[in-house]
Amino acid sequence: MRVVVAAGLLVALAGCSTAAQAPFAIGGVTAVPGQVAGGTLDVPARGGDAGSSIPFTIIRGRADGPVLALVAGTHGAEYVPIIALQRLRSTIDPATLRGTIVMVHVANMPSFLGRTVYYSPADNKNLNRVFPGKADGTLSERIAEVLTREVIARATHVVDLHCGDGNESLRPYSYWITTGDPKVVEAGKAMALAFGLERIVVDGSRPTDPAASVYLSNTAITRGKPALTTETGGVAVVDDESIALIDRGVAGLMRHLGMKADGPAPVANPIWLDRSDVLRATQTGLFYPAVKKGQTVTKDTLIGHITDFHAKTIEQIKAPYDGEVLYVIATPPITKGEPVAMLGAKKAP
Ligand SMILES: [Zn+2]
Repeated sequence: MRVVVAAGLLVALAGCSTAAQAPFAIGGVTAVPGQVAGGTLDVPARGGDAGSSIPFTIIRGRADGPVLALVAGTHGAEYVPIIALQRLRSTIDPATLRGTIVMVHVANMPSFLGRTVYYSPADNKNLNRVFPGKADGTLSERIAEVLTREVIARATHVVDLHCGDGNESLRPYSYWITTGDPKVVEAGKAMALAFGLERIVVDGSRPTDPAASVYLSNTAITRGKPALTTETGGVAVVDDESIALIDRGVAGLMRHLGMKADGPAPVANPIWLDRSDVLRATQTGLFYPAVKKGQTVTKDTLIGHITDFHAKTIEQIKAPYDGEVLYVIATPPITKGEPVAMLGAKKAP
C-alpha cells in the first residue's frame, strides 16, 4: 500500500450526543471521526504486468454507524458513476454523518486509462466476472482480491455503481439479488427502494458460494452484507441527468441507513422486472440496432441485425417476449457471444 494523501478535514466536535467512532483505516490511510481522507490501494506488479492502483476516499462521520462502500469504475468505460463520485466526494459533510462512506473512484484503472469496454487490456478479463479474485492471479483477479479484502470486507453495505458500457445505450435500473441469506436479501431490497430507481431487475441467478461469487456486489452478499448494483447512463457520455440519479440514490441510501437525518424517500412505485434476459449475438460482424433504450417491444419485435463485413445480413435478433429494452448495443462491432441488448419484463410469460 503506497501513497497516503491525507486530504484531511478535521471537524471539531460540537455537542454530539451519539457515540463517537474509532478511526477507520484502509490501505494505510486512516480517517479519524469527522475527517475526509484519500489514498490509493496498490495492486503490485506480477508476472510481467504493471500492476494497478485503486484511488479511494474515506468520509468518516463523527458518530458511529454503517460503513457504506460506493464503488465506481468496475468497468472502466462507465464514466457516469466515476464522475458522480468525483463530485460527491466534497459534498458529504462528515460533521453530520453517522458511520462511514468509502468511495472507490476507479476500480478498474487499466480499463479506464486504456479506454476499453468489458475487458481489461492487461488480461482480457471482465473484472465483474472474476470475484472474489486471486492474490496470485492475473491483474483483474488481483484487483478483485484487493477490493474484496480491503473494501468489501470492511463495509457493512456495498453499492456497485455501473452504467451502460462505452458501447451500451441504457435506461436506468438497478438489480435486486434474491439469492442467499433471506435477511441479506430483504436488506438488499430495501436498499434498491431507497436508491430510488423505478425499474428493479429481480435477479435470482447469482451464485451463493463466497469462493465463487463472480460479481462485486454478490461478493458482499455472499459475505452477509447487503448490496446493490445500479445502472445509470451509458455510451461513454457524462450527463448531468444520470449523475443526478446517483446523487439522489446515495442521499436516499444515507437516509435509509440512518447515516443522515434527511434525504429523499424510497421509490413510491417500483417496477419489478421479474424476468430479464441478455440477448446475445451468435455471429461476429457489424450490429445495427432497430430499437432504442427504454422502448417497449412485443414478442418477435426486431431488436437489431448483424451483417458480415461485406454487408450481408447474417443474423436477426428478435424479442423473445413482450418487455422493455433496458439497454441496446449502440456501436457496430459485435463478436459472437456478446450482448446485443437486455430485455426486462414485469412478469414471466
Ligand atoms: Zn458495468
